[in-house]
Amino acid sequence: MKIFCIGRNYSEHAKELNNEVPENPVVFMKPATALLKDNQPFFYPEWTKDLHYETELVYRICKQGKYIKEKFAPKYYDKVSVGIDFTARDLQSYQKTKGLPWEIAKAFDNSAVIGTFSDFTEKSEGINFSLKKNQEQVQIGNSNQMMYPINKLIEYVSQFFTLQVGDLIYTGTPAGVGPVKIGDKLEGFLENERVFVCTIS
Ligand code: ZN
Repeated sequence: MKIFCIGRNYSEHAKELNNEVPENPVVFMKPATALLKDNQPFFYPEWTKDLHYETELVYRICKQGKYIKEKFAPKYYDKVSVGIDFTARDLQSYQKTKGLPWEIAKAFDNSAVIGTFSDFTEKSEGINFSLKKNQEQVQIGNSNQMMYPINKLIEYVSQFFTLQVGDLIYTGTPAGVGPVKIGDKLEGFLENERVFVCTIS
């Protein structure tokens, strides 16, 4: 399985990191070894001093396909959850200034927290999600705020990569990203349901 991640998909977050709003979706990937599930703790790596959470809606692919048109995209995902795209911001900033790839800053082991999935249901008011850090709400988002909604992302990504059953798409983070330290407790919510807990060890 593959993990696709989208960068800069919420204009408020792009602004907080002084990034341009992109012409096309920014796509990167994480390997299967990045997945952290079942509320396992996250162990703070020794090679970063600025680990950030990014809370994201995550869609699960349920059908294989390539060159999928936006209007057919809803047939290709069936479940949704909330996850964290852990980012070593210090390494990422360095890689960005040098024009180097991001993998060491974003695709490392356990960098993709994933919560329990729910069946996807289309709602005109969008899907709400949020993150609490030590009981305090630090991020809140709604799928309607994405610059590239899931159906557009599927059209874009599937031009380059065959989507396969079980692949995940992390759809980018809203504003409010921030650092974690050992001892912090992160809780992800899909609407009002808590879908994961992640303690930093
Ligand atoms: Zn992200």
